[in-house]
Amino acid sequence: VRYRHATAAMAEIATTPFETNGVRYTPPPAPVAVLCIDGCADEYLDAALVRGHMPRLAAMLAGGGHRSMVRGALPSFTNVNNTCIVSGVPPSVTGICGNFFLDPESGEEVMTNSPRFRRCGTILNAAADAGRRVAFVTAKEKLRTVLGDGIVERGGIAFSSEKVDEAKRDTHGLDCADGVVGRGRPEIYSGDASIYVLEAGATLAQSGAADFLYLSTTDFIQHKYAPDEPEALEFYEGIDTQIGRLIDAGCVVAATADHGMNGKNTPGGKPNVIYVETLLEENFPDAGVRVICPITDPYVVHHGALGSYVVVHVTDRSRVGPMMEFLNSVEGITEVYDRDTACRRLELAGDRIGEICVLCGRDRVLGKTPADHDLSVLDGRLRSHGGRYEEMVPMLLSHPLRPEYAARAA
Ligand code: ZN
Ligand code: ZN
Repeated sequence: VRYRHATAAMAEIATTPFETNGVRYTPPPAPVAVLCIDGCADEYLDAALVRGHMPRLAAMLAGGGHRSMVRGALPSFTNVNNTCIVSGVPPSVTGICGNFFLDPESGEEVMTNSPRFRRCGTILNAAADAGRRVAFVTAKEKLRTVLGDGIVERGGIAFSSEKVDEAKRDTHGLDCADGVVGRGRPEIYSGDASIYVLEAGATLAQSGAADFLYLSTTDFIQHKYAPDEPEALEFYEGIDTQIGRLIDAGCVVAATADHGMNGKNTPGGKPNVIYVETLLEENFPDAGVRVICPITDPYVVHHGALGSYVVVHVTDRSRVGPMMEFLNSVEGITEVYDRDTACRRLELAGDRIGEICVLCGRDRVLGKTPADHDLSVLDGRLRSHGGRYEEMVPMLLSHPLRPEYAARAA
């Protein structure tokens, strides 16, 4: 494989192989930029490519780049899959099985927004230890806190484009962000929050400040717009421009998604919700049921805490069998697993899920009770993820696959 635009500065790029979580990596003698395009169902790429909104991606693919589909981890949520991407191992190993879970030690419902919930190291820190100049830029502060630990301490760059409390600046490594993009931080509920991340990455790659980049965007646009809507097409055009800048900076560019995105509405255009806790309370009144919606995060305007996967905690374990049988009979529920089976089939960590894990159909979401979800934040219709139908995601690479990967992908 030849790397275009090789310059003298790139001769300094460390190619020392490194290992993390049992996987050995041999980095190329070029900057590497990995993009997680949040919520990028493959349809978004198709819709933008056929209408000519992604000329750089089209040229990349015509010039020998790779495009395929890969399987993400379930549940198909942001923290779950961003953690898998930066660690190279499944949720059973990372321990991050949702954005939100019931901590069995404290009995509290908590957000997985701290590295203390993660049970493995990151490729980012391993690369930094091997001499790479690492930059992790994300639209979501929650991701920087879960996955960005150790980077600044190793001389790397880690920041989110999200506006956070200035008082926290010192501990957040935010100083690194100043001046990179040359404009103020964008609003979190915008497409620009994502473009800003990619702009920062391209600028860092161009200047040589970073040669190993993980750039993770937000799915605000995908939650709001279907692939062929003008706002989505314009957003992907913006992504394409930044992919072009990364390629022009000599980067090996890889892009994937943490999950897809589907419409979750009734034929009448209302959110198509199955309230699992309500159903179980009605049918098993004394069993001690607590449903957790692991999509829950600070960005409720995206999804109203409604995704296509929930876990059920049950105090009276003798009722688990009958409950599973009941859930399996509910129209729209497609998969019901007890804890052990979920660990085996979905590669989850037993102490981070419930007695029962439930998934639903492509056009549905699972909720707790009507009172727990504010549908008024949603603008009427709902697009979301979390289940089996958002599991498959695109994989893009600016170069051909190495033979050993090509053999695996065939
Ligand atoms: Zn996401
Ligand atoms: Zn989302």
